[in-house]
Formats: sequence, structure tokens, C-alpha cells
Amino acid sequence: MTPGNHSPSSPSRDRSSGAVDNAGRIVFGRNRLLWVGVIAVMAPLIVLVVLQYRWLTDLERHSVTARRASLENYLQAVSKETRYFFITTAELVLNLPPQAYTEETIQTAVHFFESREVAGIDRLFIVTFQPIPKLFFYEPDQRAMVEPEPSPETQAALVSVAPWSTLHKILAEVETTDLSVNEHDPNRRIILNPITDEADLLVAVAGLIVDQQYFTNRVLPDAVGLSLPKFDEADALWVCVRDSHERRVYPKNPCSSVEDDRVQQSFEFIFTDWTMSLQGTLAVPESWAKANFAINITLSAALAVVLLGGIAFTVRTAIREMKLSAMKNEFVSNVSHELRTPLASIRVFGELMRRGRVEGKAKITEYGSYIETESRRLSQLINNILDFSRIESGERIYSFEPTDLEDLLTGTMATFTVRLRDHKLELEYEGPEDPLPDLYVDTNAMDRAIANLLDNAVKYSDDGSTITIRLDRRDDEVVVSVADRGIGIPADEHERIFERFHRVGTGLIHDIKGTGLGLSLVQHIVRAHGGRVTLVSEVGRGSVFSIHLPIGWTPKNHRKGAQWPQS
Ligand code: ADP
Repeated sequence: MTPGNHSPSSPSRDRSSGAVDNAGRIVFGRNRLLWVGVIAVMAPLIVLVVLQYRWLTDLERHSVTARRASLENYLQAVSKETRYFFITTAELVLNLPPQAYTEETIQTAVHFFESREVAGIDRLFIVTFQPIPKLFFYEPDQRAMVEPEPSPETQAALVSVAPWSTLHKILAEVETTDLSVNEHDPNRRIILNPITDEADLLVAVAGLIVDQQYFTNRVLPDAVGLSLPKFDEADALWVCVRDSHERRVYPKNPCSSVEDDRVQQSFEFIFTDWTMSLQGTLAVPESWAKANFAINITLSAALAVVLLGGIAFTVRTAIREMKLSAMKNEFVSNVSHELRTPLASIRVFGELMRRGRVEGKAKITEYGSYIETESRRLSQLINNILDFSRIESGERIYSFEPTDLEDLLTGTMATFTVRLRDHKLELEYEGPEDPLPDLYVDTNAMDRAIANLLDNAVKYSDDGSTITIRLDRRDDEVVVSVADRGIGIPADEHERIFERFHRVGTGLIHDIKGTGLGLSLVQHIVRAHGGRVTLVSEVGRGSVFSIHLPIGWTPKNHRKGAQWPQS
């Protein structure tokens, strides 16, 4: 009877966790709860994102109309301000006392005009109808009402009162004495106020010619300035005013072309042929709505990405945890198996010896060495587990001392004699050409590391093949390599086999029992010595594991209690 290394294991067993196949990979179908949870979060999230998108596109559409209305309101406010200015000015200046103004009494208006000096007026005039229609301009320098010479002003004033003359001629009653505006001459815009007697008959018309310069330089900026603060985006918007020939009259800096879809508005009282338009990047409602949409959709997308990231992170962590927990379950089962096998051998050999069934010194020696080997295996297994738990809790302490690696290797190899013979394996040893310097080594730990590699080489080789151990110096490193001609390791597993519990595990590759701890311990131990482990392997051809230890490394560089290296 020989101790059984090659005991079969069922490839995909259903455990309570039921989440991992032999290779320690998560079998997704069995983790329904996790995926139900993911779907339960993802489905509403997707619905929310879709709804949010639709809602934002709707909002974009509606907000164009709302924005247009609000910008129009703003321009209306500017227009109302200018109207207010002209109406208050005209009412102040043109509301002459209701007396009959004739050629004789016209000079009495001088006192009135003198007492009403206001800005924004170019000329003031009165047209009397007694005995015949006559035009008088107010001349402040002469302090008199003067009959003017023919001039563009005279002509504009006369044209503006023409309808009133007709009204006077036919002695019609004046139904409304509201101010009226005449913009026949665009350079001389006139505001008129009819003066009536007690019988509501027209006796005169007072008028003013608007000072256009004052309008563009003072009235407009004031009106814009008064209305703008009421508007949220005052900084990003400004008003542009163009005359009937599309010439810019306000402000001084250029306005964009009028072709695009800007909000426009005319003045409502005077300068009715001039157009105000809103300027600035936010002045076109469509662009404004698009910009808002872009901001909102970006925010929503960012939020969705953050949420998705969170979900992905949680799922990843959950999968890792499940995988680890499943691997630990697998580990416990493997450990039990690993313990049971040598114990069974020891029991059987012990029993045979107790019953006196073993005859001859040679047999006793043979059985004794089996018991010894199996006990060693048990010790190695238990040491591995102890090491593992110390590393897990950060309590693994190494004690380094100058060591001759060749001596150490010889000792380690000696412990494998029986196992090698058992499997008819040949062990070759190739030592260094020149003596090697002593290295600072924790002998127990390094012995365990090399024994783990040797143990794997034995486990994963076919009976009758050869294992080669080389000790060599390469540049400033001492390299111990364990080469077998066994089953080899697929390239995509080369990194992962150093992870805790990880085993290359489908039944197609191997059915050999193990704990998945050996290589992770080897790597931890070697890194604790400032070294590294490398692997060259090909499926079906064998593997070479090499421990590289730097020459000249001292324990000063060792980090105490180091946890597992991050792979
Ligand atoms: P185990 O106890 O499973 O051997 P290890 O950590 O020592 O744990 O090894 C991890 C895995 O790496 C093994 O399960 C095996 O699949 C693979 N492996 C390790 N050494 C060899 C080798 N010499 N040849 C082939 N495969 C190996």
C-alpha cells in the first residue's frame, strides 16, 4: 500500500454555497440571489434614465416657448420704460393752460415753457388756428414764440398738425386729448398735445420734436438698465436696437446679424419703426434650451455612471467575497482530505506493526519510513496552515540568519527520498559551479518554500519521470529552481496560481488534491526575503519554478508582519 497522492476529486460538486466550480470560478447561474439583486437595482435605474431622458427632451421643447415669452417680456419692459419717459415728458411740457392761443396771446406760452425745462426735447412749438393756422417755435434764447423760416423742422411740424387743422376747419369736437405721435420724418419725431376750450373745440396744438441723440444716449441705456436687473441672466444678455434701415443705433459694440432666431420687439409709443433684439449666447431660446438640456443630460449621465460604478463595485466585491468564501469551503474540504490520507496510511502501517504482521528488519524499516514520510507530509500541511493563519493575521515573524543554501537544499531533498522512491521519480541536483555566498535566510521558512515546490513537482508529475533541482548564481541573485516534466500549467493561470486557495482545477487538467495554499506561501516567504518567484511552464511539458534571492539583502529591509503581497 502506498500513500495516495493521486486521489480523484469530483469536478463540480454542489455545496451549500454552490457558487464555485473546481477552478474556484463563480458559476453565475447558481448565484441567483446576487443577480436578482443586481437586476432589481439595474431595471429601475434603466427605467429612470430613459424617463429622465424623455422628460428632459420634453422640457427642452417647452422651455423654448417659455424662454421666448420671458425674453419678450423683458424687451416689453424696456419699451414700456421709454414710453413712460416720453409720455411724462410730453405731459409735463405740452399741457399748456386751456386758453385760446392766438397770434396775440401766443407769447404767454413762453413763461410756461420756461418753467418746464426738461431734457430729451429738441424743439417746442405751438400751432394756433385763430385767425388762420400759424406755427410758432419756442426760442429759449430770445424768450419768445417765433414764426419760423421754412426748414425741415417747420415742414415736419406743419405735416404733423395737418390732421388737426382739418379737424379745426370742420369745427369738429375733439374726442380725445391724448398725446399723439407723428413719425413722418424719422429724424424729427414729434409728440403732439391738442389744446381744447371748454366746448372741446380745438384751439391750438402744442408739440415737441424729440431729441434723438438724447434718446439713444440716455433714455435707452436707462430703460435697459432699469429692466435688466429684474432679469436673472443680466450678465449674459444685452439689448441691441436697430433703426428701420437695420443700422445699429444702440449699443456702441457690435450686435450679431438679425437673421437668426433672436427675440425681437418694436417700441410701442415712439420710434415704432426701430427694433430691439436680444444679444448674447443665451438670447436665442433654442440655443439656451439646448445648453440647458446638455447640462442636465450630462449631470444625469454622470449620476447614472456613478450609480453604475457603485453597483459594479458592489457586485465585484460580492463576487469576490462569494468566491473567497466558496474557495475557503473548498479549502476546508481539501484539508480534511489531505489530513485523512496520511493519517489513514500511518494507522494502517501502525496497525500492521502492532499485530506483528511485519516480518523482517527490511520491512520494518520500509514501513517505518512510510510512517515518517506521511508524518512529514502532515507536518508540512499543518505548518502551511499555521503559516497561512499567521500571515492572514499579520503575525508571521521571520528570523533571518546567514545560511548556506546548498546545505539547506540538501536537507530539504533528503526529506523527500521515500516519496520519490514511491513514485519512481528521479531527483537530479545541479549545484553551483563556484561556492555561493551565505544569504540571510529564515531556514525553516525557506525549507518550507522549497519543500512546497518539490511537493508540487512530485504531485503534478507522472510516476517514473525526473525532477531537477538547480542552485545557481545569476548576476546578483542566487536562484533555486525546481523543474519537473509533469502536466504543466496553462499560460493564463501563471499569475493566479500564486493567489490564496487558487487551484488550476478542472478535472481535465488534473484531479490531484491540494489546498491551494502552497504557492501563495512560497511567494510570501520569498518576498519576505526580498526575492521573487518566477515560473516557466507549458501544458504537457512541465514546469520550472525559480526562487530568486538577491545577494547582499539584509533583514533591515524586511517589512515585519507584511500581509499577502498584492497581485
Ligand atoms: P495545491 O495544494 O493545489 O498544490 P499550490 O498553491 O501549491 O496548491 O498550487 C496551486 C495550483 O498550481 C495547483 O492546484 C496546481 O494546479 C498548480 N501547480 C502548482 N505546481 C505545479 C506543478 N509543478 N505542475 C503543474 N501544476 C502545478
